[in-house]
Amino acid sequence: MLSSTVVIGGGIAGLVAARALAREGQVVTVLDADDLGGAIARRHLDGLDLDVGAEGFATRGGTVHALLTELGVADRICSPEPVGTRVHRPEGSMRIPDGAALGIPTDLADPALAVLGEAAHRRARQDESLPAAVGADATTLGELVRARMGEAVLDAWPRPLVRGVHRLDVDEVPPETLLPGVLGRMAERGSLAAALRGGGGQLGGLVGGLGQVVDALVGDLTTLGAAMVPAAATALERDLRGWRVRTSRDTVIHADRVLLACPPWWWPSGLPEPVAATGRSWPAPRPVDLVTLVLAHDGGAERSGVIVADGGGRVRARSLTFSSAKWAWLAQEAGGRVVLRLTYDALEHPDDDLVQQAVADAGALTGGAWSVADLRASDRTRWSMARSAVEPSMAEHRDTMRDRLAEVPDLEAAGGWLAGTGLAWSIADGSAAAGRLLS
Ligand SMILES: Cc1cc2nc3c(=O)[nH]c(=O)nc-3n(C[C@H](O)[C@H](O)[C@H](O)COP(=O)(O)OP(=O)(O)OC[C@H]3O[C@@H](n4cnc5c(N)ncnc54)[C@H](O)[C@@H]3O)c2cc1C
Repeated sequence: MLSSTVVIGGGIAGLVAARALAREGQVVTVLDADDLGGAIARRHLDGLDLDVGAEGFATRGGTVHALLTELGVADRICSPEPVGTRVHRPEGSMRIPDGAALGIPTDLADPALAVLGEAAHRRARQDESLPAAVGADATTLGELVRARMGEAVLDAWPRPLVRGVHRLDVDEVPPETLLPGVLGRMAERGSLAAALRGGGGQLGGLVGGLGQVVDALVGDLTTLGAAMVPAAATALERDLRGWRVRTSRDTVIHADRVLLACPPWWWPSGLPEPVAATGRSWPAPRPVDLVTLVLAHDGGAERSGVIVADGGGRVRARSLTFSSAKWAWLAQEAGGRVVLRLTYDALEHPDDDLVQQAVADAGALTGGAWSVADLRASDRTRWSMARSAVEPSMAEHRDTMRDRLAEVPDLEAAGGWLAGTGLAWSIADGSAAAGRLLS
């Protein structure tokens, strides 16, 4: 008899796993409470198909590239334009030096360092001449950068970047957590800048947007005969054959195996208690609002990304992506229009108020002369962001979860919440979970 699996959650991890299982002849049902694709989400705004969740992927390791090749869309892979990123503060903004890793300069002669002032720039350059042992015993990233390049460099770029991207404090996170192998390379190459040179992660995108990955996966699953059901899994129960999965449509699906491909805060009831308990103690997600704006003209704006340092003054946004400058294909489709994405720690503002705030923030962050009258379309999407995999407490949660799951036959879990935020991690984890279910 054919073996059957219910995949709970049709985000990238669930879809990748479902495809791998269906390709091996399994009977697969994918349940999704909302739109297939999960955090790869798209909205049609002013005639443009825009990603309102993930918009790019880490090329390192080749995981995403391999999937895109299998799906036949690798010819659409593109690189972002080198528009750079600035750190915004009420007193002004500072361009992050080109080639910097987590904001740490890798070329100390870069003119961008001149904004630090002569003395601080000279201090930063000491990294080139200090003995390699200086900073080698640093227990935090802050300590390492301070020892090698001085406080001014640390405060200018790494501190706001690490806070903005990872929500971590440079003085609490060990250097190797965010920069694996950095201390070894510093010993070999003699300076921190040299240790980080050429090691920056590369970003890839897809001409036309990442929504096409979901279309291709869903197309494959349809061809392979998998069922995709627009319903949430609400409860699980063991039965003689395996599992009974109750859905929000009040139907029950029987399956030999279950894959939990959604985070624990959305899990159905009825899971074996050790797994359920580990799920209940999983660190809560951070709610984030992502506002996408399509504006009628470029407003004379500076076309770069922006990270807002804590205390950004009247600006409430945490970051801005100048999407139509970053992606050449989007610039072409947008014509004279501008597409921006701004992220917020979830605000209780009604949509219209938040969009007005976003237009004002966009002007403050880029110098663009826009008003609400220039708005062609907008979207606000609320996301529950899983905690960053590099947060010190996460390793223990992950290990406990994997151990508890290993004790339950015919139950697996996968996804960015477990393996680490990002498409590359989520895809690899979905494939690995399918592999375990097949074996
Ligand atoms: C705004 C934003 C921007 C991002 N940008 C990037 C980026 O540029 N590059 C990058 O690599 N990563 C990015 N990420 C991270 C990346 O998108 C995620 O790590 C990845 O998509 C997670 O995939 P997943 O399948 O694990 O989970 P999800 O995408 O969260 O999918 C889970 C699915 O489960 C469904 N579900 C939930 N509960 C149930 C239930 N009870 N029953 C049935 N279905 C259920 C949900 O509807 C959802 O579709 C971004 C994330 C966000 C939120």
